[in-house]
Amino acid sequence: MLITFNASPPPPLLEERGENSMKKKKQNTLHIDIITVLPKLLESPFQNSIVKRGIDKKLVKINIINLRDYATDKHKSVDDYMYGGGAGMVMMIEPIAKCIETLKKKRAYDEIIYMSPDGELFDQKMANNLSLSKNIIILCGHYKGVDERVREHYITKEISIGDYVLSGGELPAAVLCDTIIRLIPGVISDETSALTDSFQDGLISPPAYTRPADFKGMKVPDILLSGNTKNVEEWRHEKSLERTEKRRPGMLK
Ligand code: SAH
Repeated sequence: MLITFNASPPPPLLEERGENSMKKKKQNTLHIDIITVLPKLLESPFQNSIVKRGIDKKLVKINIINLRDYATDKHKSVDDYMYGGGAGMVMMIEPIAKCIETLKKKRAYDEIIYMSPDGELFDQKMANNLSLSKNIIILCGHYKGVDERVREHYITKEISIGDYVLSGGELPAAVLCDTIIRLIPGVISDETSALTDSFQDGLISPPAYTRPADFKGMKVPDILLSGNTKNVEEWRHEKSLERTEKRRPGMLK
């Protein structure tokens, strides 16, 4: 991607992100390979809304790979019992290694990501960084997770979407992709709308209102109806600060 911008808040200006040069230069496509044992779980998240728009505009390509296609035995096994005993199956290294090695023959990857509850906590800053990648692999775990040797030898980054445990890495992968894709310039037509979201500029978004101006006596703040852009901007900034202070005081430090 030709666009360079600072991944950490404050957010880049549109010009810095290459908003203007985009019209002249061809934008890179972000290529995402997702390795899963449940491809069906990943169908719907990528067939709707903003993510779909990114795919239709060819700004992102998502390739869903069924790990079973890389199984190395006749039963198409992808998991096995845990050495040392204990409940739960572990995803085997052989199919995963074979799959990743096959993918690596075709392209160079910026990151090979494993979705994992004990990974680095996902946030907007990480999303900004990843949205600048060209090629990434996302490995979705299942059961007890993957054989530790996969993590040691094949994975370059481990990401968690929060301190709780899901049954598989597919929903976390969809969360990751959605967050990254909407940051790619051109995916959301009004790009400023992604850049003014909460966390993007180190602040929580101010309250938003739409018609009617008065609903059963519940009124929209007068200032938003005043038509005075400068006052509106000031009000929004003030409310952003207030909200951040109240809801995410740590962000202001
Ligand atoms: N035994 C593991 C949990 C496995 S959950 C442990 O205790 O850490 C099965 C799979 O779901 C994981 O391999 C991972 O890919 C995915 N997963 C579960 N919770 C997740 C989270 N919070 N963030 C990212 N991936 C998660």
